[in-house]
Amino acid sequence: MPKTYQRLAAIALSALMLLPMAALSAEVNIYSYRQEHLIRPLLDTFTAATGIEVNLVSGKADALLERLKSEGLNSPADVLLTADVGRLIRAKAAGVLQPIESTFLDAAIPPRYRDPEGYWFGLSLRARVIFYAPDRIAPEEIESYEALADPGLQDRICVRSSSNVYNQSLLAAMIEAHGPEAAEAWAAGVVENFARKPQGGDRDQIRAVAAGECDVAVANTYYFARMLASDDPAEREAAEKVALVWPNQDGRGAHVNVAGAGVTISSRNKDAAVRLLEFLAGAEAQSVYAEVVYEYPIDSQAQRADVVAAWGDFKADGVDLAAFGEHQATALRIFDRAGWR
Ligand code: FE
Repeated sequence: MPKTYQRLAAIALSALMLLPMAALSAEVNIYSYRQEHLIRPLLDTFTAATGIEVNLVSGKADALLERLKSEGLNSPADVLLTADVGRLIRAKAAGVLQPIESTFLDAAIPPRYRDPEGYWFGLSLRARVIFYAPDRIAPEEIESYEALADPGLQDRICVRSSSNVYNQSLLAAMIEAHGPEAAEAWAAGVVENFARKPQGGDRDQIRAVAAGECDVAVANTYYFARMLASDDPAEREAAEKVALVWPNQDGRGAHVNVAGAGVTISSRNKDAAVRLLEFLAGAEAQSVYAEVVYEYPIDSQAQRADVVAAWGDFKADGVDLAAFGEHQATALRIFDRAGWR
């Protein structure tokens, strides 16, 4: 009798342990700014491991956020996957995300790369650094972002428009480090040094350095990696004429931003959505992700792509990215006054 009882108890217990699994919805819907071919293999691994189907809607980051806002509580999306803390902060402020509690995510992601209230989580890291033409300028002249405003660099800098969120976050970091007045003086100084009116994306700035249109550019490192690893010989040739500086290594460190995700306010598959975020922050996904997108893994133990690893280690700015929230709007006003269009 006691034996039977024990067996029954064991069966009941294992059934209980299975319950959380069985209660999970079998699908999760993502709005993703990532090109499908870059993320699909990872999502397939997730489905194979969990049985949770992943439906992917891909689009431009700003358009997806607008779509989420207009759909509101009726949105079919469970997860927003987007780039740059500026957009993640905007999504939180727009009320399209909900807070998540996950001891796994809290342990896997350093506090400075996630929202303190759990509305968004960084899943990969991107450094925004300085590029230069080694035959025309010495790296010592451009060792910091601050140096980009030096009068000696007049007509030598290429950088994209201030309408781009990457530059808004770079300026937000400047505001956080030096205050809004110094940040405005800096922006005005950089504008003085423009070799041309801002145009194109980050890759175009690197190409312009290679082509001799400017001596210095600002861009995210993964674009440089994609050029170096490109199938197109012209892209590789251009990238090979350009070198990278890790800025502010004697000070606050290089500007590091995130690509990340949050669970939507409308999510009907919240448990599955959280499991997907945990999977993406986990060791296996981190290595694959970093190798495919040429960004830096959140998990410092995870593997980097070879082309990225070749640049060596660098000191990253230790600033809490959530602190940029209030600076994003200030950054837009400063760019406007400084004439950085
Ligand atoms: Fe990008």
